[in-house]
Amino acid sequence: MVALNQLVLVCLAYVVFLFGVAFLAERAAVRGKGAALLRSPLVYTLSLSIYCTAWTFYGAVGYAARSGLEYLTIYLGPSLVTIGWWWVLRRLVRIGRSQRVTSIADLISSRYGKSNVLAIAVTLMAVIGVTPYIALQLQSVVLSLSIFAAPEAEASGASGGFNAAQAAFWVAAGLAVFTVLFGTRNLNVNDRHHGVVIAVAVEAVVKLIALLAVGIFVVWGLAGGVGPMLDRIDASPIGAWEVQGSRWAALTMLSAAAFLCLPRMFQVMVVENDDDRHLQIASWAFPAYLMLISLFVVPIAVVGLDLMPAGSNPDLFVLSLPLSQNQNGLAMLSFLGGFSSATSMVIVATLALSTMVSNHIVMPVWLAMRQGGATQSGDVRKVVIRARRVSILIIISLGFFYYRASGGSGALAAIGTISFGGVAQFLPALLGGIFWRGATRLGALCGLATGFALWVFTMLLPSFGVDVALSREVFEQGLFGLAWLRPNALFGIEGLDPTVHDVVWSLSLNALIFFAVSLFTFPDPIERLQGAQFVNVLDHAGATRGWTASVAGSEDLMIMAQRILGATEAQAFFRAEARAQGITGNLPEPTPAFVQALERELAASVGAATAHAMVSQIVGGTSVSVQDLLAVADESAQMLEYSSQLELKSRELSETAAQLRAANEKLTQLSHQKDAFLSQISHELRTPMTSIRSFSEILRDGGSLGEGEKSRYASIIHSETIRLTRLLDDLLDLSVLENGQVTLHLGREPLHDVLDRAVTTALTGASSTLDVEVVSTASGVVLHTDLDRLVQVFINLISNAQKYCRSEQPKLTITPELKSAGLNIDFVDNGEGVAPDEQAVIFEKFYRVSGSQGDGAGLGLAICQEIMARLGGRIIYLRDRGGAAFRVHLPLSALATPAGTEVAAAS
Ligand code: ADP
Repeated sequence: MVALNQLVLVCLAYVVFLFGVAFLAERAAVRGKGAALLRSPLVYTLSLSIYCTAWTFYGAVGYAARSGLEYLTIYLGPSLVTIGWWWVLRRLVRIGRSQRVTSIADLISSRYGKSNVLAIAVTLMAVIGVTPYIALQLQSVVLSLSIFAAPEAEASGASGGFNAAQAAFWVAAGLAVFTVLFGTRNLNVNDRHHGVVIAVAVEAVVKLIALLAVGIFVVWGLAGGVGPMLDRIDASPIGAWEVQGSRWAALTMLSAAAFLCLPRMFQVMVVENDDDRHLQIASWAFPAYLMLISLFVVPIAVVGLDLMPAGSNPDLFVLSLPLSQNQNGLAMLSFLGGFSSATSMVIVATLALSTMVSNHIVMPVWLAMRQGGATQSGDVRKVVIRARRVSILIIISLGFFYYRASGGSGALAAIGTISFGGVAQFLPALLGGIFWRGATRLGALCGLATGFALWVFTMLLPSFGVDVALSREVFEQGLFGLAWLRPNALFGIEGLDPTVHDVVWSLSLNALIFFAVSLFTFPDPIERLQGAQFVNVLDHAGATRGWTASVAGSEDLMIMAQRILGATEAQAFFRAEARAQGITGNLPEPTPAFVQALERELAASVGAATAHAMVSQIVGGTSVSVQDLLAVADESAQMLEYSSQLELKSRELSETAAQLRAANEKLTQLSHQKDAFLSQISHELRTPMTSIRSFSEILRDGGSLGEGEKSRYASIIHSETIRLTRLLDDLLDLSVLENGQVTLHLGREPLHDVLDRAVTTALTGASSTLDVEVVSTASGVVLHTDLDRLVQVFINLISNAQKYCRSEQPKLTITPELKSAGLNIDFVDNGEGVAPDEQAVIFEKFYRVSGSQGDGAGLGLAICQEIMARLGGRIIYLRDRGGAAFRVHLPLSALATPAGTEVAAAS
């Protein structure tokens, strides 16, 4: 007989061993070692086996002993789900990773627009739904301990030597400590609980081996081989293949739903998943595990019923059979198997629930209570850890109290079914959320509330027994005396199996209301976005590769990097990384360190969010979350702004370039003009110089010249010199005017005085017979301008008329006219005028109408034009005025007219 103390010691040693395993795994994960094992599909598959709790370990045999093969339904559901992994599981895992989901509450709330209400609702429902399940595990451990204690108590003659409540308390406390130690070590939600997962995997192996060992002992040790065993089964009522269609269908569906919705399953299946290729292996490996673990259930039940005294609890056959045969070692192993099943479930379930409770209830409350506190990050981390720990204690305590309240009685399987029914209510919102974009938050909330209320009323409350939570009247007459509100006969439909009754009503009404409300409500923008992300998660995630992707991953990274960094830079970066890794060639292994370095490098070019999104598209197989997209959009907006600024700059630059080009062209043109000008000047200068030189040579050499000739030559020289001087004066004048270096000497004088002065000066000493008439209009006008310069213009025009007017009686009429825009003074003679094609060019420097007489150099009108420009007016040639006609225009600003003339001007 195994002493209870001995058992407790072995138990403690086992727990210490698990601690060690978990600790080593954590340390290896931190150091980045043992990744192959920690992230292997085997560990993943084994971790899924927390589905098989003590309920499976002990309860399946009890279930089989009571209801035959029906227990298989509990394995059928999950098997179907894993075999069809690509339909639902793959989506969930992808969504879990891309949205960085931490729990099923997180997933549902984030699908429906990050709804807090939904998160809290799911969390509370999960806690309520799973509490019986945790109680069930405590109960099974206590029951199994009591089996060992019972004979001991009998032997010592003491009654009640084993205190079940105390044992349950210590087991609960131990589990709480383990969970706190390994579940709240690190905070980063992306960091997985490697320690816990490995410990769970080890426990999965232990429970499988234990159950197989007991099975083998029963078949070959007790029944005498496979043949006799089969005979026994045939003889037993259990062997009868009685399939109750509705119950089987309901239970299979229930277990499938629970497999997807149980917080602990979600934790190992989605949150702790590293690579969705693991699903592919789990799809056959997990059903195989289930098959192995259920292989000997019927034999153990049949033999147990045969050999154990009547009234023995069939739930404990796995333990009591070896004990009754004095197989102490086997009993111990069996106990450890059951212990493993119970503890792994409680640890993972508590971990999952505590994450939900602390994230969705404790933290929001804490943050709301102290506004602004969230800015101190160290503070918050501590609070989160504390919140998780407190949540773990609360959840395990709830389980403990449920265990005490339910009296620790009732068949294990029944309690398990209750839990399944509760969490299964998440299914419509979950499936609707990942397959149907039209699903809305209100729909999910209403569906959940309905389903959950029905579950509480038809399953949870009745489970406490008659007159505990619900009175007998409610059971018999219905709630509020309404006959259609009886917990076991809703809407008056009687005679259904209670489980079928609950599952059918709660799930179908849940789904119906979810669907109907969703149809009649509209999702808000975030819901829409999230809905699209969830439903289309498989479309944009593409082929997945783990961080340890093959060289193909590196190539893809290279192609992307080249696009962003440019070919040479990208190649240099890759080569340097390859060298650092000790690889010859250009493609380094896509290790996490390298990928991170690359991401940083890209971030410098395209922004952190974009870089992350791009790299994870290739490496992580992660899809891009809405936040990622928004961040990318932010960066693109910034880049757009940069690029528009650049565009502006480049436009400015091209404008400047155009201006420079124009200036350059002008300069070249000017240079040509200068050349032309210089040659023109030299030509103009040479003519008088030549005649001066030749006549002065004649004078110098010629002694035979008469006085008359001498004086004629001398006067030619004189007049040529005058011409030269005038030419040089004109040139100088023009250059001064053109350079804008003139200073105007403003003066006031009546217009007529100015004109008179000009006429007098121009005609003095002239031999011509030009008749100049000054029309006395605008007689009162007083000029206020540089009068000398203006006179210079007038003189030039009068002398031009003198020189070029080929009329028998040359006459020049000068007509001033005051206009609203200023003063016009027209100089019109009665000569031939200027031919139309030459009218525009006579103002050019050195331009002379061919054949025209006179000694001008063609600078007069050019100078006039420059002067008028300086005075703010202009000079133009007037067509069709009979002879040559020039108009000098002066602006109003050049006039200092007395008040009377202004009126005249206006009229
Ligand atoms: P210049 O200084 O040699 O007189 P201008 O620039 O004053 O040269 O005049 C340019 C040309 O315009 C002259 O060669 C002449 O042919 C023509 N011109 C100017 N005034 C008259 C006029 N009143 N009648 C006819 N032709 C004129």
